[in-house]
Amino acid sequence: MANYHPADELLMQFAAGQLTNALGIQTACHLESCKICQQKVHLYEQLGGDLIDISTPAEIAPDAKSKLLNNLHKHQESAVDLTGNHTVKSELETLYTEQLANANQRVPRPLRRFVPDYYDNLPWAGFSKSIQSYDLPFSDDQYTARFYKIAAGKELPQHTHKGNEFTLVMSGSFSDLSGDYHPGDFVLADDSTHHQPKAHDKEDCICFAVMDAPLKMTGFFGRMLNPFIK
Ligand SMILES: [Zn+2]
Repeated sequence: MANYHPADELLMQFAAGQLTNALGIQTACHLESCKICQQKVHLYEQLGGDLIDISTPAEIAPDAKSKLLNNLHKHQESAVDLTGNHTVKSELETLYTEQLANANQRVPRPLRRFVPDYYDNLPWAGFSKSIQSYDLPFSDDQYTARFYKIAAGKELPQHTHKGNEFTLVMSGSFSDLSGDYHPGDFVLADDSTHHQPKAHDKEDCICFAVMDAPLKMTGFFGRMLNPFIK
């Protein structure tokens, strides 16, 4: 069970279908394993649009393509639909999807369409073996979606963020000064966060990051890497 959860405002926006692809799929992945947040989303859906109108900050994506979901039971299907390249599921595709589901149970369902294989088999890229990344194919106008892999026992250069970065731990675990994070944990870093995440020793840590601005490295090593970070 996760110890760190999305903010209530984010869950309200999810319930109202106001999140764009990257953040919507990431939130759906957290929800899959978090009963606490599932119950909240269910409640927000029942409360309906009136409450959301008065309690959500003004910053709502004006170009949100459509409702991300009508209710919690449909959320995985809807998240996929929003990518715009999937409307009708053929029998063959259903079979294929089921095979994928059986192939790797560790990948949350909302991601299986995009990550059909084991994490290790993704075409990871990066400037060192300690830190690698994989760009997920559903970034949108607001957010970039990317996996990061920190090798067991290694740490990222110290950095801060120009904007928001939402991180969902997929496998392994990492620590920074604020805490220990395990699969399912959902963490928000922003420009007030200066941290240096370190993967725990036993296993590589894979995180699903959704960010609205490039990383801004602050340490000496970080500054050298800055030009290479998209
Ligand atoms: Zn949660």
